[in-house]
Amino acid sequence: IRNLNKFYKDFLALDRLNIDIERGEKIVILGPSGSGKSTFIRCFNRIEPHDSGVLMIDGKVIDDKTDLTALRGNVGMVFQNYNLFPHLSVLDNCTLAPRLVRKTPRADAEAAAHRYLTQVGIDEQAAKYPIQLSGGQQQRAAIARALCMNPEIILFDEPTAALDPEAIAGIVSIIQDLAAQEITTICVTHEMGFARRIADRIVFMDKGSILEIAPPEEFFTTPQTDRALAFLNQMI
Ligand code: ATP
Ligand code: MG
Repeated sequence: IRNLNKFYKDFLALDRLNIDIERGEKIVILGPSGSGKSTFIRCFNRIEPHDSGVLMIDGKVIDDKTDLTALRGNVGMVFQNYNLFPHLSVLDNCTLAPRLVRKTPRADAEAAAHRYLTQVGIDEQAAKYPIQLSGGQQQRAAIARALCMNPEIILFDEPTAALDPEAIAGIVSIIQDLAAQEITTICVTHEMGFARRIADRIVFMDKGSILEIAPPEEFFTTPQTDRALAFLNQMI
């Protein structure tokens, strides 16, 4: 990522962001509300197109000529509010994109879906509709759905924000297990313990800029900016 800029009308939401992320790396993005964290990660799958600068994934420039279907197959996303398709069962949520985009035969897509639903601990809920699940179960389904596309990169935008403490622990442990795999993970969170455990590097943002990039032990013990220090001091 080089000098990435993003405007909402004339408001500069991302201001010359620069970072190289390695394959398989686990990046946690921290920062106050409105600092641009969601905007930033949504640039990776072009839900938010950037306005200038360069975003390259695997040597390929992401711009207005990018095949969005292919990009979004390769860059999975899990949102705060799950965003499951309400009219589809959990199983069909998981198999829809593999079948339509990857042309995976139904039986193969369902077998893979059951594997991932088992991995996230809700395979027995496969036939249910999202509304019949708890928040934590819906988030597990959303993670399984993302994994079903075998993405190289997975984006999490505050995946635990809508959950109660017990459900948070479950989701955190699933994402930690994922972190042990090769998949490149970029996660926005306010869970500091979780951030510290999974991150290879913390990216700290404020007002649309990246102020710090550091390994967690360094960021949490010796932040380099007053803004990051103030942010950490507010956390319990
Ligand atoms: P939070 O922690 O509250 O989720 P964030 O760091 O994810 O915040 P963003 O959602 O990326 O912040 O927003 C960054 C800035 O861009 C904010 O000032 C926000 O008001 C503004 N913004 C976000 N989305 C839009 C939009 N669609 N149109 C106009 N402004 C927007
Ligand atoms: Mg956000």
